Amino acid sequence: MPASTLQNSPNAVLNKSVADRYRNLPCKGRIKATYIWIDGTGENVRAKTRTLDFVPTEPEELPIWNYDGSSCFQAEGANSDTYLHPVALYNDPFTGGNNKLVLCDTYRYNKQPTATNKRKSCLEAMEAARDTIPWFGIEQEYTLLDMDMRPLGWPKVGFPGPQGPYYCGVGANKVYARDIVESHYSACLYAGINISGTNAEVMPSQWEYQVGPCEGIATSDQLWVSRYILHRVSEDFGVIVTFDPKPIEGDWNGAGAHTNFSTKAMRDEGGLRDIEKAIEKLAKNHRQHIEAYDPRGGKDNERRLTGSHETSSIHNFTSGVANRKASVRIPRGCAEEKKGYLEDRRPSSNCDPYSVCEALIRTCVLNG
Ligand code: ADP
Ligand code: MN
Ligand code: MN
Ligand code: MN
Ligand code: MN
Repeated sequence: MPASTLQNSPNAVLNKSVADRYRNLPCKGRIKATYIWIDGTGENVRAKTRTLDFVPTEPEELPIWNYDGSSCFQAEGANSDTYLHPVALYNDPFTGGNNKLVLCDTYRYNKQPTATNKRKSCLEAMEAARDTIPWFGIEQEYTLLDMDMRPLGWPKVGFPGPQGPYYCGVGANKVYARDIVESHYSACLYAGINISGTNAEVMPSQWEYQVGPCEGIATSDQLWVSRYILHRVSEDFGVIVTFDPKPIEGDWNGAGAHTNFSTKAMRDEGGLRDIEKAIEKLAKNHRQHIEAYDPRGGKDNERRLTGSHETSSIHNFTSGVANRKASVRIPRGCAEEKKGYLEDRRPSSNCDPYSVCEALIRTCVLNG
């Protein structure tokens, strides 16, 4: 891509080898803890860092903290203190050592969860369904943008050649910014995220990685931190990440967050019957699921779930073995083995995984 565009990013032009001089300075027993939270958009993450004089091993050891909710679309200026409750800990791949990333959920002045704290009720559902040992694996798709908000590497006037050669592509004219993808992958492994793979997507500059399978709330927690890590790695390269589910109108694939789900009964011998029973319940609750599957109650997915570009129509529920045009797909291997998991293909790339996983558990296990 023309160097002139990346030079519009102040982050990309800062000399990273100068920063390396300071990276390994001894910090006299103190560590940096970066608290991460979801802001009032329900889509974007925020973070700020504090010093601790011990190395935490459990989130409960960390202090509750606060931030200015009025600057995050979450509170009035006159009553702005919003609380950060640490819920999960990861190693910090950006500063290394004993430094930590601290995922938090957010509470208002009156101790009630903020409007975009979807974790609390998700966790309640996961606890109610604990005996069924639910697993989730989420395929996170995303698109890289240049500083001018055009997809990275696309011509500044006109479009790249039509889709076809880019999915799982190899070569300088097929994929853009593999450096970001590989750096993010390594950083997630270092952090302790159960990232299970990555691939280039159908639209050029669109990529995917998968998190899971993990039990219960863990997949959603890890997915949010993996998104933080992706934004943060891309920041170092002067590149923007968008999770918009249809970043480019027209004959270009949108981006989803296919959510793979199973219970112990589905994974056991003959579990296909349990998978089919869950799909019958999902069919009856299509509208509620669509509402939970993007941050705008289905508005974002209207642009994506058109029935073309490997999607189902937003208006009706369909399912099928190996069918990538269905709302819910049973992978071929699971149909053959008569056990395994189902893939819900409806969640948008910018979904809140807490809302998605909660909807799946409530419909398929807790019966609403
Ligand atoms: P595809 O692109 O063919 O839809 P991927 O390989 O990208 O599939 O993703 C499959 C996902 O399914 C992975 O995230 C994996 O963690 C998840 N997964 C595998 N087995 C299970 C299971 N038993 N329950 C829930 N998720 C699972
Ligand atoms: Mn200040
Ligand atoms: Mn996939
Ligand atoms: Mn994909
Ligand atoms: Mn998939």
